[in-house]
Amino acid sequence: MKIIDLLHDDKLSLSFEVFPPKTESNYDSVKHATEEIAKLHPSFMSVTYGAGGGTSKYTLDIAKNIKERYGVPSLAHLTCVSSTRETVHERIRDIQSAGIRNVMALRGDIPAGMENEDRSHWDYQHAVELVRELKESDADFCIGGACYPEIHPESTNQKEDIFYLKEKVEAGCSFLTTQMFFDNNLLYNFLYKIREAGITVPIIPGIMPITNGNQVDRAVKLSGSFMPQRFKSLVDKFGTTPAAMKQAGIAYATDQIIDLFANGITHVHVYSMNKPDVAAAIQRNLSDILG
Ligand code: FAD
Repeated sequence: MKIIDLLHDDKLSLSFEVFPPKTESNYDSVKHATEEIAKLHPSFMSVTYGAGGGTSKYTLDIAKNIKERYGVPSLAHLTCVSSTRETVHERIRDIQSAGIRNVMALRGDIPAGMENEDRSHWDYQHAVELVRELKESDADFCIGGACYPEIHPESTNQKEDIFYLKEKVEAGCSFLTTQMFFDNNLLYNFLYKIREAGITVPIIPGIMPITNGNQVDRAVKLSGSFMPQRFKSLVDKFGTTPAAMKQAGIAYATDQIIDLFANGITHVHVYSMNKPDVAAAIQRNLSDILG
């Protein structure tokens, strides 16, 4: 099933993101965690792709398993930066052979300290090039792209970021999923601006439940997200007490999702971090709302 068809349904729904194992040794535990999440019957599940390409096989294995064993539509992530055209084309063929219809087309992160000149010879510089190639393949993929309510860390300003986002959508993205954010007003503001710029595809807000005090610094560093005072107070108070932080983080994420639904969003993607208990708790908190 194509994700764009799910998004045209007005019923409120959740989807979950999982990540594949890095090595063979933790394959079984990750597979089990993703299966537990699939048993919650989310509208779809996305499976990330390691920037170095090392986990590409596992991305497809997990995405295929979720779809075939649990009937949950899967979205396979694919990055292009630092990959050759040949490798990317091979990955696209693998996705197609695995019967996966939905692909999240990403650039991937640039290795720390690398200058623009060092990567001028790379086959791909931006996600838009991958979107174009996916679109040109004969697989009829439903293509998603990433977007950044607080602008991408490399962008100098939001106008420029939205300009390139529009180009990416026009190249063939059917929907966009946002980077995590902890203040819904940032999302509402962003939606206003992109709609004004003429981007009309569905936007799926991405919500990250922070359930562990140690996760905070890493999440902020990776995403550059603004931490509202209400969230900082919660981490200050409960960050060193694991069970309390987990409960508070789930409650905060639930609250964000309820506010999004109350303000017209119909679909939310939860960065579940391979934690079935967290995914289940959020879903349970929303049971009557999701219907
Ligand atoms: P792009 O769309 O290429 O944008 C990157 C930057 O380049 C932006 O500043 C943009 O404004 C600018 N830009 C875009 N096009 C042009 C152009 N033509 N000319 C000049 N500038 C341009 N990473 C992984 O490694 N694996 C994953 O599975 C993964 N999943 C993700 C899922 C989501 C929902 C999100 C939000 C991010 C994910 N990432 C993942 C991280 C992502 O790879 C990084 O954020 C990366 O830095 C940018 O990827 P992008 O696809 O948004 O890039």
